[in-house]
Amino acid sequence: MGKVYLVGAGPGDPDLLTLKAARLLEQATIVLHDSLVSREVLLRIAPTAEIIDVGKRCGRKLLTQEEINALLVSYAARHGAVIRLKGGDPLIFGRAGEEIEALRQAGVDFEVVPGITAALGAAAAAGISLTDRRAASQVVITTFSRGADGSAMDWGTVTSATTLVLYMPGAEYAEVAQRLRDAGLPEDLPCVIVSNANNSRQQILWTSVAGLSSEQQLAAPALLIVGRVAAQKVREIGVACWRGATQEPPTKRFPVS
Ligand code: SAH
Repeated sequence: MGKVYLVGAGPGDPDLLTLKAARLLEQATIVLHDSLVSREVLLRIAPTAEIIDVGKRCGRKLLTQEEINALLVSYAARHGAVIRLKGGDPLIFGRAGEEIEALRQAGVDFEVVPGITAALGAAAAAGISLTDRRAASQVVITTFSRGADGSAMDWGTVTSATTLVLYMPGAEYAEVAQRLRDAGLPEDLPCVIVSNANNSRQQILWTSVAGLSSEQQLAAPALLIVGRVAAQKVREIGVACWRGATQEPPTKRFPVS
């Protein structure tokens, strides 16, 4: 039995790969990757390696998760090392849990090599401290698009000192704005949309819950950082935009309507 490496490819720029990830790619004989992995990172794979794209295209899966799990197990039996390359970090919205379970069940050795997740890449690109002590004491990494009704977000944990990082915001910013509004987040709460963080197509759009609805759609992949830390100028953080911020303690929960 070989070993499967679940490797984080980071947000795009190959300079943001860990040394270990770069070394594994250079020595790889077989790589199964998602469509999120950038071309520049794929170019780091040994030219002799077999490269399989198991990702999604336009919402249509090339392979089901079960097929990917089965491939990992069968390749592990034939190859010394199998690289399962995922955008960002494998353990954040990467379905690594299912793959790890399948590998464990099949008795296949595995190792996770962390990568820079999109939240951190996007925050770096925008120059935002997600936990700026003047405005935030917690970061919630979340998405709206999970589950049948998409309501996985536990709004009870969101306070005026929360930075929300919303992965997979979907095509409709107006819908996202409405969900934020429905949860009691103020209209003037800053938001920043970061598209293609850390690669040549990077775009950053500074807006607010109110402004979100009318913003132009940025290219996927994109994510949203929502919270007082997302005020465009750090010096504005103190005064921006959280309704009642000066009167109420920073741990106050947003009213849930
Ligand atoms: N495992 C990945 C996330 C996969 S979910 C990670 O740790 O980053 C896919 C979502 O990640 C996208 O819909 C988008 O919201 C976000 N994402 C991935 N790469 C991104 C990038 N370069 N810029 C902005 N958002 C990105």
